[in-house]
Amino acid sequence: MGQGPIEKSLLPDTTVLAHGETLIGGVSLTELAKEFGTPLFVYDEATLRARCQEAAQIFSDGVAFASKSFLCGAMARLAVEEGLYIDVATEGEMDIVLRSGVSAQRVIVHGNNKSDNELRRAYDEGVHRLIVDNFDEIDRLEKLVTSEKVLHCLVRVTPGVEAHTHEFVRTGQEDTKFGFSINSGAAREAIDRLKSIAGIRVHGIHAHIGSQIFEVDAYLETLAILAEFVFEDGFDELCVGGGLGVAYTTGEVAPTITEWGEQVRQAAWAVGFPASVRLTAEPGRAITAQAGVTVYKVGAVKPVSQRTYMAVDGGMSDNPRPVLYGSGYEAFDPSYPLAERTQAVRLVGKHCESGDVLIDEAWLPEQTGVESFVVTPVTGAYGYSMASNYNRSTRPAVVFVLNGEARLVLRRETVDDLARLEV
Ligand SMILES: *Cc1c(COP(=O)(O)O)cnc(C)c1O
Repeated sequence: MGQGPIEKSLLPDTTVLAHGETLIGGVSLTELAKEFGTPLFVYDEATLRARCQEAAQIFSDGVAFASKSFLCGAMARLAVEEGLYIDVATEGEMDIVLRSGVSAQRVIVHGNNKSDNELRRAYDEGVHRLIVDNFDEIDRLEKLVTSEKVLHCLVRVTPGVEAHTHEFVRTGQEDTKFGFSINSGAAREAIDRLKSIAGIRVHGIHAHIGSQIFEVDAYLETLAILAEFVFEDGFDELCVGGGLGVAYTTGEVAPTITEWGEQVRQAAWAVGFPASVRLTAEPGRAITAQAGVTVYKVGAVKPVSQRTYMAVDGGMSDNPRPVLYGSGYEAFDPSYPLAERTQAVRLVGKHCESGDVLIDEAWLPEQTGVESFVVTPVTGAYGYSMASNYNRSTRPAVVFVLNGEARLVLRRETVDDLARLEV
């Protein structure tokens, strides 16, 4: 039993696996771990930029980066530098993006329960688009928006499509908290109401059918359903959402952003969308996931009769996806990246519950033990952004690497940061 060395396709584009060390962006992961401490998120700037460029090119003008997958000021600026817009869903996300210096005109505002504050700030700042989700929001917009200033909107609709993905991240079916149902007539009613409000301009519709989707067919089905609305209303914009899946473990294969974009565009033409309709998308995971890795340090190794537990200095507070969705990950030792992985362990965190498992059965080289560094690839999406202070842990630092240089973009949280909220 055992597994070969870590598959390079799971790692950032610039990764070099050498004897005794692993380099990303020309920087050694073990050197980074020593300098910045662990757990540490490391992002390859070249990979982030390449994925943004790929998306910007295939969808022409109008791709948004879904910031919930990973957001900090440096990431917001990078996405906009590469020609993308930025999706936000809360005032917190909007605030980080605007503070980073990105113009409100690059911001798209989502949310299924936007507060008065969030709506007002979006309107006052003059965001690029606001995606309207429900009738109560329309009531609030009616009070807020005046004919003096235009609010540019899309209407989020539920096409009634069941994407093949985890039920927690499936959003296109009828039974969902997101958007207006097409089948029930709610979408039609919402569009009519919005059109009657002076100051609101409805550009088109938006549908996001879920996340971690590997089969492009679900998008094609969605497009056919949406086509009708766009034709009838003379809309000039259609957003197919995000959700393109990525490979997390050995052997998984996902479509590239280019393949996804090409098929979506072809399908749009096939169902009769005129070329004048602005076809947009909003990938998150497909941009950030593979660009990032997490470096941990092993602190305890405990053999029990059934298996060996290997505990690292993070866990469900920096990567809750295994607990939330049962997601699989790989692991490797950055000091022995070319070694056969012959040691099976359950890779666990340091939190006070048995469910705090990062990898149920991780394969690592024989040499890996206490004081070793262990890296989990493909943690660039929904890792840091879902990180918590559970057990009053301090959230990890994040570094970007490029051309042999590392720059800290988010410093490690300290216990003083945690104490700041005490009154
Ligand atoms: C989460 C989300 C996305 C991004 O999803 P990914 O799976 O990260 O691509 C895009 N649009 C909306 C509306 C979302 O909620």
